[in-house]
Amino acid sequence: MKRYVSLEDISDGHLYTSEDLVKAGCGDCKGCSDCCKSMADTIILDPLDAFRLTTGLSCTFEALLTDRLELGVVDGIILPHMKMSGAPACCSFLNEEGRCTIHDIRPGFCRLFPLGRYYEDRSFRYFLQTHECKKTDRTKVRVRKWIDTPDFDRYEKFVCDWHYYLKDLEEEIAAKADDPSFAKMVSLSVLKVFYMMPYDGAADFYGQFYSRMRQFGWNG
Ligand code: SF4
Ligand code: SF4
Repeated sequence: MKRYVSLEDISDGHLYTSEDLVKAGCGDCKGCSDCCKSMADTIILDPLDAFRLTTGLSCTFEALLTDRLELGVVDGIILPHMKMSGAPACCSFLNEEGRCTIHDIRPGFCRLFPLGRYYEDRSFRYFLQTHECKKTDRTKVRVRKWIDTPDFDRYEKFVCDWHYYLKDLEEEIAAKADDPSFAKMVSLSVLKVFYMMPYDGAADFYGQFYSRMRQFGWNG
């Protein structure tokens, strides 16, 4: 999701690589679950999240859409996000003790917070959002460790490829703004190919992802 804000207004002014230390460590979030509540449609899922959730919970993506997830339009393309419900609005995977019940398979956005990604020149770096996490005594942690995702170099390549793939689609949609059926066709295809079509939990995710990308016309 693009945000039209100045980096200086929302961050500490630095851009970080995965090897850098950043003040994001929040002591296992003890006593706080703020970023699992009232997040509206901002916890957007990527295909790796679809893989993690469907294989980890042994369910279909359609089943998750009945009560756990919702669809929303992100920069012109329909994508899924975590559903917030109740009062206060909470993620359905948050338990009464304020803990995530799917910690090991939580989405990439949950792993990233309170970091964000700043994309430029077909690459990206990280920034620390300074107004989001209320913990005042955050400790320094290496970005790669904070995000807690195996096979990290492949993960970063996937994040970058997925971002620019969607961005290129978004530009195609904008160029064909006089044909709304094109935008609909793109969104339905993205949902079907990258989220609904079952993944094999015993096989490597990235192999399955790039095979689908190529089927969908990607030749990066
Ligand atoms: S707001 Fe900060 S301390 Fe609270 S749950 Fe999120 S990351 Fe943890
Ligand atoms: S999946 Fe877990 S970490 Fe992410 S918003 Fe839901 S409860 Fe919080």
